[in-house]
Amino acid sequence: MSEEKDKKDLTEQNKYEDVCYICHRPESVAGKMIHIPNDITICNDCMQKTFDSMANFGFGGPFSTTFNGDPQKNQDNQAKDNKESGDEDDKKKQNINNIDLSGIPNISMLNLSDLFPKQPKVKKRKSDKDSASRIKPVFSIDNIPHPHEIKNKLDEYVVGQEQAKKVMSVAVYNHYKRVATNTMDEIEIEKSNILMIGPTGSGKTYMVRTLARLLDVPLAIADATSLTEAGYIGDDIESVISKLLVAADNDVEKAEKGIVFIDEIDKIAKKKNTNQRDVSGEAVQQGMLKLLEGAEIEVPVGASSKNAMVPMTMVNTRNILFICGGAFPDLTDIIKERLNKSSAMGFVSDLRDKYDKDEDILHKVSLEDLRKFGMIPEFLGRLPIICTLDPLSEEMLVRILKEPKNAIIKQYQKLLALDEVNLVFDDDALHAIAVKAKERKLGARALRAIIEEFMLDIMYEVPKDDDIGTVTITADYVNGQGGPRIEMRTQEKTEKLPQESSVSKVSPVVSNEA
Ligand code: ADP
Repeated sequence: MSEEKDKKDLTEQNKYEDVCYICHRPESVAGKMIHIPNDITICNDCMQKTFDSMANFGFGGPFSTTFNGDPQKNQDNQAKDNKESGDEDDKKKQNINNIDLSGIPNISMLNLSDLFPKQPKVKKRKSDKDSASRIKPVFSIDNIPHPHEIKNKLDEYVVGQEQAKKVMSVAVYNHYKRVATNTMDEIEIEKSNILMIGPTGSGKTYMVRTLARLLDVPLAIADATSLTEAGYIGDDIESVISKLLVAADNDVEKAEKGIVFIDEIDKIAKKKNTNQRDVSGEAVQQGMLKLLEGAEIEVPVGASSKNAMVPMTMVNTRNILFICGGAFPDLTDIIKERLNKSSAMGFVSDLRDKYDKDEDILHKVSLEDLRKFGMIPEFLGRLPIICTLDPLSEEMLVRILKEPKNAIIKQYQKLLALDEVNLVFDDDALHAIAVKAKERKLGARALRAIIEEFMLDIMYEVPKDDDIGTVTITADYVNGQGGPRIEMRTQEKTEKLPQESSVSKVSPVVSNEA
């Protein structure tokens, strides 16, 4: 039994790369490691350097011999040396994997594990055999689904935003086709990083999250506001890649095919009228250029910032899909200004306020507008695909409430179904929720907060009474002008509750009657 466990532990250990305790380079960079007691691994270079410096101090034994990199060969060399010298004692010190430090006074007092604290390890690249045993995702990026299949799946979760879903499906399809075929010979397919522009709560993050889940690729979501130029307070730009590595379970190969979503990208626009160095605006855009294009980035493993004690690994961003999203609040004014200017000139002049009430204004965005907003041309050049999301209308909000696979009201219905209570929402009630959400100007994000407000009483009171069979949410209840409609299980009797907004006061009346 314990043998089996040991074996399992060993195979589990084998999945991770060893990291040198001195220079922090992983096995894939520094080559095979030498294991010394207390689970410490050291690369050949560092071991050689240690020997050299020891030899300089005049210690004898193993330190005077040259370490040639291959532990096996090294043992042979040392054996040969010893034969020549004929020194019997030195034979004990020959095995490089078992260094006897007794030649150094008091060294045995040191516990090596105190010197080298335990460090996180990088997972080794998986072989094909390993990945075959993984759970099958909806799609596989090795057998990339067609854009219409991706969109059909997205339709199950994301309401409306037809244009954005179409653009995203094609972009993701092309990106992973490029990654899978890896045809970089004559015609190099450029990276299709995406810029998503849409009001807050319109589903930007949600769409990216859904896509990553469908494709079973790791996803890192970062906030552009927390990023600053290296050396200043805030997160380094490269920290987004280390987040991705964490999402990929420290598996470099998996991370290299992941998706990075950088939210609030409009907050790193170039600051206007400033004499100071723009460390969290333009400098961050500059810093992101090489990341977006594709570069070898050295990232810390298991930590968000680099320091001496954290092992490092290299991640290539060439096949990572970057999606930047933002609300770009004043962008509509810039677009309107441009359109009004062009329409007011020449023979085809139009009314000055023609675009003022245009709901689709965001779809008319051009690179020039984004540049005016404060994004630098080099940055925009690396986000060739621009997709815009519509502000959510009342109708869309109602659909979001009931249609998606994990729609909010379905979630509440499931919760109450566990208490064997049927939860019904009147159509008017759904519209009342949508109207309230629209007033808050937070997009679909407001929906849950509004429902939570009035569902609290129901969730608190309903489990008290086993006779309650159905609870119907009415528009009046949502608007705080009445109670929900309660139907009792035993008598199937409908009770219209009196004008009370809280169930807590009315439900005992119903249960008494029953
Ligand atoms: P943002 O555009 O600000 O990133 P989110 O994607 O975070 O907004 O949206 C917040 C929540 O609203 C999501 O978790 C999701 O449940 C819901 N939501 C937003 N838009 C949609 C949509 N088009 N379809 C379905 N749900 C949506």
